[in-house]
Formats: sequence, structure tokens, C-alpha cells
Amino acid sequence: MVLMRRKRGWVFTLSALAGLWWVLSMNYELPILMYHIIDRPPAEGRSSVHVSPEVFERQMEFLKVHGYRVIPLSEAVRLYKEGRPIPRKTVVITFDDGTLDNFDHAFPVLRKMDFPATIFMITSNIGQEGWLGEQDLKILDQSGIEIGSHTADHAFLPSLKNDAEIEDQLLRSKARLEEVLGHPVSLLSYPAGGFNSRIAALAQLAGYEGAVTTNHGRPRGNPYGLHRIKVSESGANLFNFWLKVSGLYHLGKRRIAIS
Ligand SMILES: [Zn+2]
Repeated sequence: MVLMRRKRGWVFTLSALAGLWWVLSMNYELPILMYHIIDRPPAEGRSSVHVSPEVFERQMEFLKVHGYRVIPLSEAVRLYKEGRPIPRKTVVITFDDGTLDNFDHAFPVLRKMDFPATIFMITSNIGQEGWLGEQDLKILDQSGIEIGSHTADHAFLPSLKNDAEIEDQLLRSKARLEEVLGHPVSLLSYPAGGFNSRIAALAQLAGYEGAVTTNHGRPRGNPYGLHRIKVSESGANLFNFWLKVSGLYHLGKRRIAIS
């Protein structure tokens, strides 16, 4: 009798674990990391856009040591479009804005680890002091770092007056990067994550293959609204980073649906 009860207990525990595993599997989502500046945060005040070079290197080492596969964003977009499953322990790395520290601090680490990444450039800042120049972009592009558009002027697209203004931001930045790199540019990052279904349609019409937003995005799998996980210095410990690359970080986060 006691044995029977014990046996039933085990069956229950195993079923519960299997159920939990199933729920977690169903909710797994490819982590697309979003970085901005890889440099020491300013001495005063907290910064949500800085990650110091040492912390960044430790995070990349974590991925390397624990056998994560880092794929280019373009490959993730392709897999989504083909409806193919993305294997566990896969990560995408992206940077917004295109500040010079990406070249000086992030690029050497990425090269050392042999990791691809995508940098989204505000094209009107190309060559300005503190920003990536044409030569930097070419070197990055030829070294496995994809260059995407972050619009011409970092415009918050939903607040622009009409379609023509949105198209101008999307097309002008794309053309500028293509002129520098000499090949098509197919990835876009909406400044401040601002987009709606009209903007996504215009991005597609402009010739982009995929676009990323910030945490507040549409459900997984929409290649014109891929949401990302922000990495900042404030959550610099490796446990936090492990959660962010777990593929389950979004669970419990409020998702705002943008129409
Ligand atoms: Zn930005």
C-alpha cells in the first residue's frame, strides 16, 4: 500500500516536471540582445545605454564557454521567414546607434570570440566625432559584423507627419549605407523601438528583410517586429545575463502590443 502511494507520488512528480518542461519549451524565444555603448558609464548617474568593456567581454566569454551559438540577425530573420525552428542556446547580438566605441571596444572582443553581430547606424552621424566613419563601417562589414539602418536621423517614426517622411528616413539611410558598403542593406532597427503596422509595411516596401524593435514588440516570429532584450550595466551580473540569454526572459514581462 505504502509502495503504491510512493509510486503514484513519483508519477505525479514526473508528470508535473514534464508539463513544466513542455510549457517552458512552448515559450522559448530566441534571445536577441540589444546593446548601445560599450564604454565606462559616466561617473554620475545611472546609464541605461552603457556596458563597460570588461563586463561586455565577460558576457561574451560566458556565451563562448557555455557553448552558445551566436548567429547573425539576418540568419534569424531567414529562419523565422522559413518557419524553421531555432535551436536552443542560440543568441543574436545587436548594437543601436553606431557610436565609435562599438569599433574600439566591442569589435575586438567579438573578433576574439568569432561572434557575428549587427550594428544599426544613424546614417546622418556617419563620420561625426564619436561616431563610426565610412572606413570603420567597411572594416566591420568585411569582418562579419552586419550593418543595418537606424534611420537617417534617429527619427521616432510613429510621430512623423506622413508616409513620405517615414519613407525618407527608411530609404535615405538604406541608400547611404549601400553607397558606403557597396551591397544591399536589409536590416532595420526602429529608433526607440517605435513602429506600428503601417511603418512595418513601409519598411518591407523599402526593401528591408527584417526589423527589430525594443522590448515592447509584437509576438515572436514577425520579422518586422522582432523584439530584443536590453543589456545594460545595471544588470551586469552573470546570473542576470544568463536569464537574458535563457530564451525565457520575456516570461512575466508585460508585452505591449503595438498595432
Ligand atoms: Zn537609438
